[in-house]
Amino acid sequence: MTDDGILVVSEDACRELVGRKDAFDAVEAVFAAMARGDAYNFPVIREAIGYADALYGFKSGFDRAGLALGLKSGGYWPGNAAKGLTNHQSTVFLFDPDTGRLKALVGGNYLTAVRTAAASSVSIAHLARPDARVLGMVGAGHQSAFQLRAAAEQRSFEKVVAWNFHPEMLPALGKVAAEIGLPFEAVERERLGAEADVIITITSAFEPLMMRDWIKPGTHIACMGTDTKGKQEVDAALVAAATVFTDEVAQSISIGEAQHAVAQGLKAEADITPIGAVINGAHPGRNSEAEITLFDGTGVGLQDLAVASVAADLAKAGGRAQVVRL
Ligand code: NAD
Repeated sequence: MTDDGILVVSEDACRELVGRKDAFDAVEAVFAAMARGDAYNFPVIREAIGYADALYGFKSGFDRAGLALGLKSGGYWPGNAAKGLTNHQSTVFLFDPDTGRLKALVGGNYLTAVRTAAASSVSIAHLARPDARVLGMVGAGHQSAFQLRAAAEQRSFEKVVAWNFHPEMLPALGKVAAEIGLPFEAVERERLGAEADVIITITSAFEPLMMRDWIKPGTHIACMGTDTKGKQEVDAALVAAATVFTDEVAQSISIGEAQHAVAQGLKAEADITPIGAVINGAHPGRNSEAEITLFDGTGVGLQDLAVASVAADLAKAGGRAQVVRL
């Protein structure tokens, strides 16, 4: 057997090669494979390492349909910003499922943002009302710009309303809206709920930011920030009232937005549907115009492997990868 070597795909190459449509298609396919039982995530490791205030860990899995095997390794280094580096750092390792040999090393920072935005946009594509016109953004950090760009491609939005805990961060998100030709207005949260047909929450909040009574019938809400025990972005009563979909039920009830409603007995695990079931046609998705749908996007390793595989394939085809041998 020939040794093809290991592809090394840089952050720059990922940014140039992997577009939003590539990420959408890869994430949609892997969610579908998860719901069919063709792909599964291994248990997540995440540890405070007691050095540099860092959180470090692994997300890993295997997709038998897409033949992606590997892991994303990395975490959060709060001191990085002062060094001119991104606080979130990650690298994806892809292995050949036939031999176990390391196939590719792929920069994971850009890919994490683009795969997270793809997840909410897959949920909008499958669950939001077709006539949705106002997009509500709760959060204005690093991920929010990716979320806004991806969501804007899923419906004929006419306006963005936004709120952030740190209001001084909102103008940067407003610039993104302007770039894609959407009017942008900073509003209070109650008004955001009253106006928005689709809401994305993407914050590091530990308490509910959007309350049940502020959300109008028919809204689709994608909760993307809650990925750890204790975090929370919306009222547990809102989760209880909504029809809830997720990337992975086990994560949704333990580290996702549904953790609080489930712990309080307001929502049963059995009432949370993997979005892949909707993609596969096994679940109808939205049932009525008035229903509130909620996507609990917790972030799974298989999303990382899916987009990193696309990056590695495109980099190989386009001669954009370095090749090294161990
Ligand atoms: P960031 O640090 O760039 O931005 C943080 C955002 O949270 C800002 O809008 C900030 O104003 C807001 N915020 C901070 N403290 C808050 C508080 N106490 N109450 C309300 N809002 C507060 O982070 P980011 O890279 O944009 O990521 C946002 C969140 O998304 C993080 O919690 C991150 O862990 C999560 N995330 C989830 C996934 C996933 O797959 N679901 C993937 C990546 C990141």
